[in-house]
Amino acid sequence: MAAGKTSPEMKREFQTSSGDETIQAGRRLARLLTAPSLVVLTGDLGAGKTTLVKGIADGFQAAEEEDVTSPTFTLVHEYRGPTVNLFHIDLYRIDTERQLLTLGLDDLVDANNILLIEWGEKFERFRQERDVEITIRRLTESAREISVSFTGEP
Ligand code: ADP
Ligand code: MG
Repeated sequence: MAAGKTSPEMKREFQTSSGDETIQAGRRLARLLTAPSLVVLTGDLGAGKTTLVKGIADGFQAAEEEDVTSPTFTLVHEYRGPTVNLFHIDLYRIDTERQLLTLGLDDLVDANNILLIEWGEKFERFRQERDVEITIRRLTESAREISVSFTGEP
């Protein structure tokens, strides 16, 4: 375990039965997130990671839910809010450290920024450095279990 990550984990669980409910969970989650923060979103394709980010962005008044789209091809989307800036990142298509470096994510780690990284767990450094881990499990076609662990220092 990395130094500074030894505090007891705080956990939250949400169960949702529609995309709208997951967006609502994202709005509630936004109240528990503070900048700076590195959030890794884990879950299969179609689990609801991007849907959850819609709610988080809305919760921070950084973007309307319909304006939040998957950064699968653009890799990094930026949403500026009154209190924090959100960077929504998708590493699904990133396979090597070298490709990762070209994204310049280190420059985004800043006091006012929250990084929300889909597929971040693919890289050891994000498994080490994450402050919050969100895992979305698909229970049925429309039901999801969303587990949130706060692993960083308060
Ligand atoms: P990911 O980013 O994990 O690949 P998306 O958020 O892009 O997933 O897609 C999730 C899909 O599943 C959307 O089409 C959404 O409408 C649908 N869906 C159905 N039920 C839910 C739910 N409970 N939570 C989130 N998405 C849901
Ligand atoms: Mg996605």
